[in-house]
Amino acid sequence: MTTAPQTAFIYSDRYQQFDYGPGHPLQNARLALTYELCKAYGLLSLPCTRLIQARDATEEEVAAFHRPDYVEVFRAADRGQAPAHMWEYGLGTSDNPMFPGAYAWSALTTGASLQAMELVDSGQVECAFNISGGLHHAAAARAAGFCYFNDAAVIIKHLVRRGRRIAYVDIDAHHGDGVQFGFYDTEQVLTISFHESGESLFPGTGFVEEIGRGRGIGYAVNVPLLAGSDDEIFLWALDQVVPPLLTAFNADLVVTQLGADSHLTDPLTNLAMTTTGFAEAVRHLQPFCRKWIALGGGGYNLENVPRSWTLAWSIMNRCDIPNDLPEPFLSTFHRLGFRSSRLRDDAYVPEASSREQAWRYVREQVYRLQKLVFPHHGL
Ligand SMILES: [Zn+2]
Repeated sequence: MTTAPQTAFIYSDRYQQFDYGPGHPLQNARLALTYELCKAYGLLSLPCTRLIQARDATEEEVAAFHRPDYVEVFRAADRGQAPAHMWEYGLGTSDNPMFPGAYAWSALTTGASLQAMELVDSGQVECAFNISGGLHHAAAARAAGFCYFNDAAVIIKHLVRRGRRIAYVDIDAHHGDGVQFGFYDTEQVLTISFHESGESLFPGTGFVEEIGRGRGIGYAVNVPLLAGSDDEIFLWALDQVVPPLLTAFNADLVVTQLGADSHLTDPLTNLAMTTTGFAEAVRHLQPFCRKWIALGGGGYNLENVPRSWTLAWSIMNRCDIPNDLPEPFLSTFHRLGFRSSRLRDDAYVPEASSREQAWRYVREQVYRLQKLVFPHHGL
């Protein structure tokens, strides 16, 4: 029997005060649904876990990664003083609208990640999960892909200043570009991203040849997958890449971005995973995450996100939970129009020829990255 780890779940009811606006794919209801499902399973009152109220990040904390001029323009735009050049900073676009409280929302999600970081880095818990974080597209001076502050990059910057060596593993369907390029020239941070190929999906980066710059060569790792790639392909790729690199790198802390938009039914992406495969991916990461800061990320089908992240949280707590969604959550879920009654989806088997193509593609990508990157790690 394994001993239960000490864990922390960071959350705030304030998340529901913020709304990206009608028609925007990112819906904060997914956070409340995840919280409610974890609670319904009793996963927020386990003896080993703590429920922590998210706090706001200060401007100074955010400035560890973000450029002061960007923070200033974001603040001004948030006050309704829309500076003419805010477009240059990616602000006020359809992807990154200046909805009421955009700055407060970003400070809160970043604050939640900073709390997760403090709890894990200080040794108070082994694992902390901030489901509102993982906003991995924002750059130092630019909002992008629904992300204004890059909470992952902010906490990694703080940890780097403390001399820690960090491994960042990103399983969102989109490339973790903001984090990768934020630490592209340092060997102190290893970034690994699994995602749908930039040839078919935003942000159009994350190719195998992106391996870092200067001292950072070999410390950026990308595994692009063909549209239609399923659980088996994703897990195979993960198993080829993560165990050898994380073992060789031996990070002080591991940050994982657990975007749940790789699902077959996600409206924005074209991968073909199930919640079962997503959970397996998290399970395969766990042995390498001795000190583990887990962040959320994408996920645009509200039926999948709570199920995926509840599975992830149960794994972090080494707690098996029944597959049938508990009442009263199930009734709420069905009232909202969702049909799933179980956490884990049945296996999905794609059509043979597209499957064969996706396998050929991933084998080629992994082979190339093993040649390009592994020698930098003595592998
Ligand atoms: Zn995504």
